[in-house]
Amino acid sequence: MESKDYIAYFTMEIGLIEAMPTYAGGLGILAGDTVRAAADLEIPMIVVTLLHRKGYFRQRLDASGAQTEEPASWPVSELLLETDARCAVEIEGRTVNLRARKYEVKGVNGYVVPVYFLDAALAENSEWDRALTDYLYGGDEHYRLCQEIILGIGGVRMLRALGYGDAKRYHMNEGHAALLTLELAHELAHQAWELAYEPVNPVVNPEFVHLIRHKCVFTTHTSVPAGHDKYPLDMVHRVLTDYHGAFDELEKEFCPDGVLNLTSLAVDNSHYINGVAKRHGAVTQQMFAEYKIDSITNGIHIATWASKPMAEIFDRHIPGWREDSTSLRYALKIPKKEIWQAHRQSKQNLFEQVNRTSSVGMDPDVFTIGFARRAAVYKRADLLFLDSARLTGIAARSGSFQIIYAGKAHPQDQAGKDIIRHLYQIKDALKDKIKIVYLEEYDMDLAKTLIAGVDLWLNTPQPPLEASGTSGMKAAINGVPSLSVLDGWWGEGCIEGVTGWAIGHDEGSLASQDDRAEDAHSIYNKLEMIILPMFYDETGRYAEVMRSAIALNGSFFNTQRMLSQYVAKAYFK
Ligand SMILES: *Cc1c(COP(=O)(O)O)cnc(C)c1O
Repeated sequence: MESKDYIAYFTMEIGLIEAMPTYAGGLGILAGDTVRAAADLEIPMIVVTLLHRKGYFRQRLDASGAQTEEPASWPVSELLLETDARCAVEIEGRTVNLRARKYEVKGVNGYVVPVYFLDAALAENSEWDRALTDYLYGGDEHYRLCQEIILGIGGVRMLRALGYGDAKRYHMNEGHAALLTLELAHELAHQAWELAYEPVNPVVNPEFVHLIRHKCVFTTHTSVPAGHDKYPLDMVHRVLTDYHGAFDELEKEFCPDGVLNLTSLAVDNSHYINGVAKRHGAVTQQMFAEYKIDSITNGIHIATWASKPMAEIFDRHIPGWREDSTSLRYALKIPKKEIWQAHRQSKQNLFEQVNRTSSVGMDPDVFTIGFARRAAVYKRADLLFLDSARLTGIAARSGSFQIIYAGKAHPQDQAGKDIIRHLYQIKDALKDKIKIVYLEEYDMDLAKTLIAGVDLWLNTPQPPLEASGTSGMKAAINGVPSLSVLDGWWGEGCIEGVTGWAIGHDEGSLASQDDRAEDAHSIYNKLEMIILPMFYDETGRYAEVMRSAIALNGSFFNTQRMLSQYVAKAYFK
């Protein structure tokens, strides 16, 4: 490809297929769904990521819910194509050689978007350097910085080695890729040097970095300043040796408070910056008041996440839905009975799996609540049990229900691991009143089965920390309504009683709130007064909500619509 006619998309994680565990959660799944939509819409995109030969990790839970981790190695050479392309970066004065391996994502009409995985496991590298593309979010902050050098700087060099000229835009999916701005400036400095505008060695100065701003697009996915990667400058000096001391000049401009903040670097050097839902855009705007922050609400790739039974009724009633996600609007014309039956089939599939792996004996006739998230504290997975007596009372009065949980805690997140253990204690304590199961190893496959097979998708993050969330969108296209805090995408997706239900009120506040008691109370009221009675006594009305969730939310919260907005606002503007 010559130049200026493609979009380079950089991401630290990506969820492409089940067999490639190179994602940790929503960010990687979003990257995968974005690329699938790019292939559908035939948008010329080239993707750069790291290989992560040992994946994120495989989750094991013992009888008390204590999590241990195992490497999630995968058959790299079976799944990826070899390329001859090689490049190198300098880390701590050592040359780290990289190769690229390729995966091809095919769109609905066969258009291909290539994904290049950078791999440092080459014989000529030291043993330590060879391991730099092993673990996603593994190791310490030093390991992370090395990986970010490989992604940002090595990624740009690899594009050139593969024969790609300058891209129309470089899209940074989160701050992990921000060092690419320095490498683009380095290229400019080099060109200027070659044209003899500069008498001595090329220096990457801040002016060059600002000159590449029009080429860069930055999407932030985090709502808390602590969620952004920051590195002490002495470490940066030690590790990032590629620019031969040029960092001294850069740090005056980009590191005013003595740390390299990758989010600030990306924000300062992008012509278009966005949050991933309207509210998240506003929260981010507050954090970076001197820049213009827009928002493009996330989506999902519908053909990937529709269960088989649901895809079959879409095939029957909505021809062309795979090519054009907006056509899901016409789900409004599908008879409610068919939606109900397709959902029953998805539920059956889930229950076969659950009852094979656990001995709880879940009953497909019983109302089932699903909750699967990264086990991070702010997701408040145990909020539902704040008042267990009230909850069991509801089960006795308004109809019984059962609950299915899943989710991994980051290996170093002790508080996240405690939440899983706490849920295990609750599960055992309530076992005669409410059936609860916690499924191991939440991944793309399990997500697809679980989300489509429950009757209600519960989401309880502490506002405003959920930047977007996407699992509720996957639920919606499978006819599963959400009961959720009005944070992230649900602030836009919730039409009360039509597409699902809200927990608490939307005060429109951007400040942090943690009204656990109030939110739990709201969950209990909605379950007792509205949701359970509707499910058991007015099934037709419940099916109506299921259908509206598909039509109203599926037709909008998808990556085809999302990517069209990136094209109009950021890529080709
Ligand atoms: C969709 C998905 C996520 C992200 O869901 P959230 O709603 O953002 O928490 C995480 N993990 C897996 C496996 C998924 O499929």
